[in-house]
Amino acid sequence: MDYQALLERIAADVAPLVGSGTPAEYIPALASVDRDRFGIAVADLDGKVYGTGDWEHPFSTQSVTKVFALALALSLGGDDLWDRVGREPSGNPFNSLVQLEYENGIPRNPFINAGALVVTDRLLTLTGDASSELLEFLRAESGNPDIAFDPEVAASESEHGDRNAALAHFMASYGTIANPVPALLEDYFWQCSIEMSCADLALAARFLARHGLRADGTRLLSRSEAKQVNAVMLTCGTYDAAGEFAYRVGLPGKSGVGGGIVAVVPGRCTLCVWSPGLDRHGNSVAGMAALDRFTTLTGLSVF
Ligand code: GLU
Repeated sequence: MDYQALLERIAADVAPLVGSGTPAEYIPALASVDRDRFGIAVADLDGKVYGTGDWEHPFSTQSVTKVFALALALSLGGDDLWDRVGREPSGNPFNSLVQLEYENGIPRNPFINAGALVVTDRLLTLTGDASSELLEFLRAESGNPDIAFDPEVAASESEHGDRNAALAHFMASYGTIANPVPALLEDYFWQCSIEMSCADLALAARFLARHGLRADGTRLLSRSEAKQVNAVMLTCGTYDAAGEFAYRVGLPGKSGVGGGIVAVVPGRCTLCVWSPGLDRHGNSVAGMAALDRFTTLTGLSVF
């Protein structure tokens, strides 16, 4: 497949949508990002990467890191994680508190904020420093040693993090969280602040297309665990629009409020698209349209 020509065609097709939607405003450091940016990259299983537009420009990964944190926590700590977090779509906004009380402090899935806090808590217990462990993992998988935290974004999230603090304290009251809440929040905000490009993310996610094999050929996840992570991405990875994402794109995907979306074609390739304008669910408007075009033009979907 001529990925380069394909990506250029997709970029031209979605160009009218670039700039629509709004960047995340509840994190002030993200609100000022130029909404006219657009980049898309595809990595094949061997690590050859193709891209167009702003595909090498680092952006704030935000919730896209949740999929990598989940994979690391499973690889280091196994299935016990699922005692403290579910794997069903929430049908609620990503930072909602309501459902947590009805469900006794166990979040619906690892990709809403409450569930991601549980995953980071687990990683913190297993490693002593979840965000640094994650950063090293992302550097290794992407082959880019320059991937870094953005201290300004981490500080901005911490300053405006009342909702995440509420989620964490609430879960701690049920015993879902093992570490002191302030330390957990700090680690979580650093995790969300990691900056990467579309090329970096497409490369880093390859273990999901390679049935659990890392870039160096060693195994991160069993074949079955890789299938499970992809399944949770498909059902829960794009906020409360996962049904719409499955309908339009038909791939496991994980989005973030920085405007990035990673998608996986198991056994074939990984994709990452970035454009900061978000729809009302928190998914990139142009990003979602680009992935829709990709699967429509190529027929590469899990369905
Ligand atoms: N750091 C963001 C938060 O915790 C991540 C949200 C997202 O990308 O969905 O609110």
